[in-house]
Amino acid sequence: MPKVSLQDLSSSDARFLLELQRLIEEGESPGTVQLARRLGVRPPTVSEVLKRLEGKGMVRRTGWGRFELTARGRRAAETLLHNHRVIESYFVIAFGLDVEYACREASKIGHLVGERVVASMCRSLNWPDRCVHGKEVIHWSCR
Ligand SMILES: [Zn+2]
Ligand SMILES: [Zn+2]
Repeated sequence: MPKVSLQDLSSSDARFLLELQRLIEEGESPGTVQLARRLGVRPPTVSEVLKRLEGKGMVRRTGWGRFELTARGRRAAETLLHNHRVIESYFVIAFGLDVEYACREASKIGHLVGERVVASMCRSLNWPDRCVHGKEVIHWSCR
C-alpha cells in the first residue's frame, strides 16, 4: 500500500475524503450530489475538490458525477476516519467534552495531527473497537 502523507491534504480535501469514506462505509455509492448534500456545499464545489484529488492520484472518475477512490485515496480516507474517531473519542474520554463538540473539532484536525500523536491516543484508550458514536474503529498501523 502506498504511503500517504495526510499533511499534504488541504482542509477541504480531508473533509471530502472523510465524508466519502463514511458514505462508502454506509454502503452508498459515492456521487457528487450525495457528497454535496452531506457536506452542505454546492455540487460544483465538490467537482472542484474532486478534480484536485484526481490530480493527487486519490480519486478516479467512473462516469458522470460518479467516482471511486484509488488505493492511495482509500488508504488516506481510511486513515482520516481512524484519526477522526480516535481523536473525538479521546476528547470525550480524557477531557469530558460532549460528543457533538468533540466530533466537530476532531473533523478540523484529523489530517493535521501527526501519526505518533494519534497512535499515542490509541494506546492510552487501549485501541477501542468503537468510537463515541458507536462506529467501528479499525487500527491499521497504530498498535
Ligand atoms: Zn465524529
Ligand atoms: Zn488506532
